[in-house]
Amino acid sequence: MLETTCPHCGRRNRHHMAVRAGAGPPTPGNVSLCIGCFRPAVYENGPAGLRLRLPSADELSTIEANPQYQRAVRKLRDRQPDRRPDSSPDGRGAAGRREVNC
Ligand SMILES: [Zn+2]
Repeated sequence: MLETTCPHCGRRNRHHMAVRAGAGPPTPGNVSLCIGCFRPAVYENGPAGLRLRLPSADELSTIEANPQYQRAVRKLRDRQPDRRPDSSPDGRGAAGRREVNC
């Protein structure tokens, strides 16, 4: 299972859902939308596999102008995320992320 940490709020995200049907698992350069703070991050390769980093100012402008991203943010804000029990040691609760393939 891919687990990532949001570079904005520190939330540990274990679940993801691609916005685009048939997009498959995230790859470097894909954008993640945190279910905790609704802010975007970018997947990159790290020493232990995929991780998230803050987008650059240019990337952020591109991401925020993407209609898929705008729809994903609206959907996330309109619905409450599932709150399932979490066995993580920090007790942050259930986590998830929503991937936007730009
Ligand atoms: Zn976050």
